Amino acid sequence: MHRGPVVIVGSGLAGYAVVRELRKLDSELPVSLLSADHAGFYSKPMLSNALTTGKTPETLVNSDAVKMADQQKISICPYTRVTSIDRNNHILTLEEGGELAYGKLVMALGADQIHLPLGGDGASDILSINDLDDYRRFRDALEGKKQISIIGAGLIGCEFANDLAAAGCQVNVIDISPQPLGRLLPPAAGAYLQRKLAAVGIIFHLNATTQRVERAGERLRLMLASGESLESDIILSAVGLRPRVKLAEAAGIQVNRGIVVNQLLQTQDPEIFALGDCAEVQGKVLPFVMPITHAARSLAATLAGTPTPVHYPAMPVLVKTPACPTVVSPPDVGATGEWHVDVGEDGVKALFKDAAGNLLGYALLGAATKEKNVLTVQLPPVLQ
Ligand SMILES: Cc1cc2nc3c(=O)[nH]c(=O)nc-3n(C[C@H](O)[C@H](O)[C@H](O)COP(=O)(O)OP(=O)(O)OC[C@H]3O[C@@H](n4cnc5c(N)ncnc54)[C@H](O)[C@@H]3O)c2cc1C
Repeated sequence: MHRGPVVIVGSGLAGYAVVRELRKLDSELPVSLLSADHAGFYSKPMLSNALTTGKTPETLVNSDAVKMADQQKISICPYTRVTSIDRNNHILTLEEGGELAYGKLVMALGADQIHLPLGGDGASDILSINDLDDYRRFRDALEGKKQISIIGAGLIGCEFANDLAAAGCQVNVIDISPQPLGRLLPPAAGAYLQRKLAAVGIIFHLNATTQRVERAGERLRLMLASGESLESDIILSAVGLRPRVKLAEAAGIQVNRGIVVNQLLQTQDPEIFALGDCAEVQGKVLPFVMPITHAARSLAATLAGTPTPVHYPAMPVLVKTPACPTVVSPPDVGATGEWHVDVGEDGVKALFKDAAGNLLGYALLGAATKEKNVLTVQLPPVLQ
């Protein structure tokens, strides 16, 4: 048994959720938190509706690192990147030099934005937003600009599109798939969302492949495989995330799509744990807030001395597109069944049921979102 603090790497919602839950159970346990970034506490989901809610990169921060350290009685090292894990000796190597010993290690490393391999001299000017620093760069770039193209019509792309359109920007959204939220909505629901977002001025270019981005003076020209081209002031890429697994992989920890952990959030090394966007819990990579909340509660209990497996109930996700309120609880990957879709004037109710009529997932848009609570209790748990 190695002595040393619980060391948490990462100051996102996952890292801080573990700290908070742990402090409810044990006010004395030594805890150190290391982060490659500023380590201020902010709610990442608020980035994609910050314009309409009147938030700036500064006002999005609830508490800076000093305040968090003081409130939670932990040691926090901002701008401290961990470069390797020596599992035999329980030591972390830090990028700026130095080492830190750990008793137990929690990896809350998040995920990287996927970058499309695009040609053209403007490809390196494409922005993406996965944290507060990215968002600050984006808001600086947005100063005095109006025309934005967003590559990717998934959850994050649609949310930013709605926020920017509501703030008076002209927004193009480009996606290779035939509908927005292609992974979450059946086609009729996707078409409804597209109509509602188009009604607030968002222009969709679907079934469209982006090939190149060229500089055009101060602007950028995005070239589609169809030959069409779109000029804009800013191009945002929102094509998906890839869990950060390299640190774990280099230390010989098992990784797959994410860092592989069991229901105790434990890797094959019993002293090393992972949660949040970097983790794959029993085969599931779920880059959302609610899984983090459940995982952090269980992990804190385990770290405080009571091994506690995580269980996920059904965890609907609210899509922050006020032009078309949407809530989704997608069926498990590989679930067998079919969508039953009811499209009305004021909304869409889409239920995914198996052959026996059991509800396995749903997508509710517009007025149908009021049925969320009634339907959620009928869903099976995500992880028993
Ligand atoms: C714009 C946007 C909107 C979203 N909206 C919603 C929503 O409405 N609902 C919802 O459920 N989810 C939403 N999500 C997803 C949700 O925000 C994430 O699932 C969650 O914030 C991930 O938290 P995390 O702590 O796992 O990762 P992160 O917040 O990415 O934190 C990772 C931390 O690890 C640190 N780190 C990484 N590597 C190292 C290293 N080697 N050494 C030291 N530190 C390191 C980073 O600096 C960072 O502090 C949204 C995401 C985005 C981007």
